[in-house]
Order: sequence, then structure tokens, then C-alpha cells
Amino acid sequence: MWGKDGESMIISVASGKGGTGKTLVATSLALSLRDKDKVQLLDCDVEEPNAHVLLKPIITGSESVSIPVPKVDEDKCTYCGKCAEVCAYNAIAVMKQKVLVFPELCHGCGACSYLCPEKVISEEGREIGVVESGHSDGMEFVHGKLTIGEAMATPIIRKVKGYANHEGTVIIDVSPGTSCPVVEAVKDSDFCLLVTEPTPFGLNDLVLAVETVRQLNIPCGIVLNRTGVGDRKVEEYCQKEDIPILLTIPLDTKIAGFYSRGIPLVEGLPQWKGSFLGLSDKIREIVNERSGSLKR
Ligand code: SF4
Ligand code: SF4
Repeated sequence: MWGKDGESMIISVASGKGGTGKTLVATSLALSLRDKDKVQLLDCDVEEPNAHVLLKPIITGSESVSIPVPKVDEDKCTYCGKCAEVCAYNAIAVMKQKVLVFPELCHGCGACSYLCPEKVISEEGREIGVVESGHSDGMEFVHGKLTIGEAMATPIIRKVKGYANHEGTVIIDVSPGTSCPVVEAVKDSDFCLLVTEPTPFGLNDLVLAVETVRQLNIPCGIVLNRTGVGDRKVEEYCQKEDIPILLTIPLDTKIAGFYSRGIPLVEGLPQWKGSFLGLSDKIREIVNERSGSLKR
């Protein structure tokens, strides 16, 4: 059973839009829990990973991530066109006497080689990024880096999540937005923390993020960052939708200053540790309550 005290729990930290303080929350939650639990931070924001800037991990392992792209043996190809027909991404084109493969469009789905009637398509790996693992002061750390110019983030996210040890608390830093990489990173979580700010943009993107998380049937709660500016619309929305606001962080130049210097919030201002531990207790409570009601 996930979520009970002393047992594993996966918490993903997401946000509908960039710049809301998602990584600040993920890293401070991880650092606060580290003293009382086994903690792993998986940075799945593979297009722009930056948890390492705050946690300064020692990297001890590196693994390249590739996707299989087709290679056609044209000596045996009949130019029947079947491969181009089945490719949903226009990554392969068949001319009269030539087959063209566009590796940067290929999603490595394998449909073309599987369906080639002559079985003349083999696959070769194309590197799209790397996964690095290590530790940061007693905490396990893993992040993925998508090679610049590549578009396929999900295989790297899958690989990063493969490092989850399921022994303590796993915190996943998710990329902003609501697209496929977000779904890939958030799915299988026990809880999703949505970080937002009290502005119209914050609310607009929060609504979309809540829809995504609800479709995945994952319970969620809010961290409202930079309170003191904007309006109360996010709070009103949360009340209407029965989504708990689990932590508020005020707009504070000291917090922003630490962040810009690569210092995690709970290290710059250790008095915040208690708030983040309280946040994790509330999450555990919600997860336990939910798993209890699912059993009934
Ligand atoms: S499906 Fe196979 S045989 Fe047909 S064009 Fe493609 S590679 Fe050639
Ligand atoms: S592996 Fe899939 S995406 Fe790539 S060329 Fe073949 S059918 Fe298209």
C-alpha cells in the first residue's frame, strides 16, 4: 500500500505554466523530508532541468537514451509504399526508386518495420538525450536532459522514472504545461502538487492542469506561490472545485534572491522546513484517506 507512514509515496510537482516556482517547491519538499525519510528527486523537466542548480548533486552515473529509427535495405525493397502509409508522423517517404527516412520526425514506434511485407526494415538507435544519476547530500538525484533540437521528451522521462526506487518518498519535478511529457511524468503518482500564483494567467493554466490531473485520476492539491499580489480568483476556484490549498508562499524578495543565487528556500530560510514537512503530512493524509475510501 502506498502512502502510509514509512511507506513509499510518489509526489509529482507540476504547474500549468512556467515560472511559478515549481522547482523551488519540489527541491524544498525533498530537502525537508530528507532528514526523516529516504528521498529521491527525479527531475523529469527534461527540456529544461534545473533542480540540479539548487541541489548541486554529485553525478556518478550517465546513460544515453536512444529511440529506434528505421534503416531500409533498399536492395530488397519493392517500393510498395506500405511503410509510408502506416507512419503517422510522416517520417518515412517512398519515391519510385528511393525510400527517405526523416530521423528527426521518427517516434520510434516500430510500425513500419513490423508491417513491411518484405521485412527489409531494420532499426538503429538514435540518441536523443541522456539520464544522469547521483546524490545530493544523502538524497538520491536523477535528471534527464533532452538534446537541444530534439522533440521526443517522453522516452527520456520514462527512463528517469525507471530509477524510482519505491522505498521512500519519490518527488518528481514535472515540466510546465499539460502536454504529453506532463502526462508521462505525472501518471502513476500517488499525488500531484500543482504550483500556481494568484494571477489571471496562473488561474487559466491551473484550470487546464487540474483537468489533466483529474483525467489521470490522481488526487491534487495546490501550492499558491507569491501571494500578496494579484487577486483571489485562484482561491475562489479552488474552493468551488474542492481542491485544497496546502501551502501558501508570499511574494518575498528574500525568497526570490535565494532562488536566483541557486540556494533552495529551506536552506536560505530554514524556518520554512516545518511548513514543507506539514505539506508532506497533509499529502500523506489525503493519499491515505483516498486509498481507504477506494478500498471500502
Ligand atoms: S514497406 Fe518495406 S518493401 Fe515496402 S517500401 Fe517500405 S521498406 Fe520497401
Ligand atoms: S518507426 Fe514509426 S515513426 Fe518512425 S518511421 Fe517507422 S512508422 Fe514512422
